[in-house]
Amino acid sequence: MDIHIFWDKRASAGLALRVQRRMQQILNIPMHLDDNPIRMTGYSAIAQYYDAHAVLDALYHYKYHKQNHVITELILLVLWDDLRTRTGAHLFGISRERVGVSVVSGARLTNEFWGLPADDNLLVERIAREGLHEIGHLLGLAHCSDASCIMSNPLCFDDLDAKHSWFCHTCTQKHKRLHPHIYAGAPEQSNVNNLMLQRIQ
Ligand SMILES: [Zn+2]
Ligand SMILES: [Zn+2]
Repeated sequence: MDIHIFWDKRASAGLALRVQRRMQQILNIPMHLDDNPIRMTGYSAIAQYYDAHAVLDALYHYKYHKQNHVITELILLVLWDDLRTRTGAHLFGISRERVGVSVVSGARLTNEFWGLPADDNLLVERIAREGLHEIGHLLGLAHCSDASCIMSNPLCFDDLDAKHSWFCHTCTQKHKRLHPHIYAGAPEQSNVNNLMLQRIQ
């Protein structure tokens, strides 16, 4: 099961690569990075935000209807506009588990948004954590009571920075139980190592 990261071109490609690399370090699932191919809907020009549910609808439509072949893998879209619910509440990210699509907004993840000096390292870490949180939902994980776990629910910016860049032991075990095939390659690898050792001996 691969993950497609669709990246809003307005942020630098260098940042996208760093986020992809960071996410891949934490979650060992193949991730592919592409410019966002989605024809976006649900933007309010007056209030300058995307309606989160309209974005998820567009992702769903792309995944199942626009492609010549259906994308069976999971999709994470990274946007740079604000993302809100229909009631106006802002979101760092949201996912639609049953169809395997999710979106994260970097708008409120920059230091500049909060009047602080820019810090790309922190920005990469925050997008990676928030992206993995949504992917975690797509993989069947619920919110976690461990405040340091990626699957804890961040209510504010400070909560987001209190998370570590890891899935806690409980979430890791649950994820492995739900998706044993992702880790099925590990024993083969040790067989290869054993073979190499035998040859060296
Ligand atoms: Zn969540
Ligand atoms: Zn957890």
